[in-house]
Amino acid sequence: MILTDTDDLIKRCRDAGMRSTKLLRAALELLSQTDSPVSIQQCTEMSEELGACDQVTIYRLFERLEKVGIARRIGLHERAAHFILTDSFHHRHFVCCTSCGSVRALTDHCTLGHMEEHIAEETGYQKLYHELVFYGVCPKCSDAA
Ligand SMILES: [Zn+2]
Ligand SMILES: [Zn+2]
Repeated sequence: MILTDTDDLIKRCRDAGMRSTKLLRAALELLSQTDSPVSIQQCTEMSEELGACDQVTIYRLFERLEKVGIARRIGLHERAAHFILTDSFHHRHFVCCTSCGSVRALTDHCTLGHMEEHIAEETGYQKLYHELVFYGVCPKCSDAA
């Protein structure tokens, strides 16, 4: 994957009217370091800076990032919301657990390129990309059943 430059992201946040805080930098650093979408809970475990913060504050920050188009939300409901940088993947495939809400990114070879070409031809849309979420029950949850 192509690592996104944190300074560049911070500049985009500031251009969008966000304040450049330590927390913002920590959140963006974390998002640019991970291949998979992360939950708020995971953020607090992965980063000392974020771990020192309450989850509501982090959630609001991520909502802000979503609004300005820097992060995307994946997942079933608010409690299980996962976030990922908008431009960290050319396209995205995810699998989401319907029981615990965990989300992971899939790295399988994509077979939908030809479909995008057809859609572009048919609709005249440019710069197509797609996002696919598969739903199922994760190994942890099936073991617990
Ligand atoms: Zn699960
Ligand atoms: Zn794909």
